Amino acid sequence: MIVVMNPRSSRDHVDQVVQLLDDMGVNSHVIPGDTRSVVELLEVSRRFDRARLELAPMVDQVLDKPAPLLAADRAAGSADTGTREVPLGPRAVIGGRKLGIIAGPCSVENEARLLETATAVADCGAAALRGGVFKPRTSPYSFQGLEESGLEMLAKAREKTGLAIVTEVMCCLHVERVGPYADVLQVGSRNMHCTPLLKTVGEQEKPVLLKRGWSATLDEYLLAAEYIINAGNPNVILCERGIRAHEDYVRNTLALAVVPEVKRISSLPIVVDPSHGTGRAHLVPPMSKAAIACGADGLLIEVHPNPEQAWSDGSQTLNLDQFRELMTNLKPLAETCGREL
Ligand code: PEP
Ligand code: MN
Repeated sequence: MIVVMNPRSSRDHVDQVVQLLDDMGVNSHVIPGDTRSVVELLEVSRRFDRARLELAPMVDQVLDKPAPLLAADRAAGSADTGTREVPLGPRAVIGGRKLGIIAGPCSVENEARLLETATAVADCGAAALRGGVFKPRTSPYSFQGLEESGLEMLAKAREKTGLAIVTEVMCCLHVERVGPYADVLQVGSRNMHCTPLLKTVGEQEKPVLLKRGWSATLDEYLLAAEYIINAGNPNVILCERGIRAHEDYVRNTLALAVVPEVKRISSLPIVVDPSHGTGRAHLVPPMSKAAIACGADGLLIEVHPNPEQAWSDGSQTLNLDQFRELMTNLKPLAETCGREL
């Protein structure tokens, strides 16, 4: 059981709670936090009276299970919105009024195609170019990514367009290799549970785009973010990319209710990936609109000049015209929702 103190509580209030617990024969220990402290009960005696504890000054909540959020608590966000603004490269942030659009191919394939895509998405107002060079593929016989040569292409695209670069790291060894080329390190759905990787990306300075594991509960997802923050990196961007359910007309089921729930309880910005979240290009525009309507801070969208010929995930990828049309249509919606595109 834990006692969550009010963010305005002082050390005296915390000491009073510890004393009250002591009077009830309960040992406890204090976990100080940046924004609020938590008192953990080590065992509960017969003299324990929960109601008295709940009524103690500056006690916000008494919870039966450990609170998932200490580092990413809503109180850690900006005073205006409760959301932390995370840099998306040197020129943009995600989590403020302006929506952050991350667009580009599933995999980096060659320089010409990447530059064509980068130029087009930049013209449409995207802030970042995505593109995998280490690809987590289900089959070992599928294209695995261009690795270093793909990183060089991403660097050229950044130079030409000014877009921030978002690319995936699949293991701790990739972090150092990708560091000089990427502005944001992506941890994919398959690796959300890989705690050594979470700690490693937490020990470096680049922001981290953490995709939700397709079978992870919201608590498990937010605890994965806590690993990164506790290792020293507060710049985590969440990404809802769909979960596995029984439906088979979509690749994944896009769990959009997570967006307002994350906003309610945490300070982290969250983007939505309707490409992996549906697996079908025609569902990407409507689900992008739904994502913005329910409060997402941005979108991650797969875009390719010729999706039919893409080396991975072509069926969920928009072509350049479709992306342009989507961005045009999203503008008035963003304004209606108090955001800017
Ligand atoms: C991706 O964004 O390239 C990707 C592999 O997505 P996910 O980890 O969500 O499957
Ligand atoms: Mn993909």
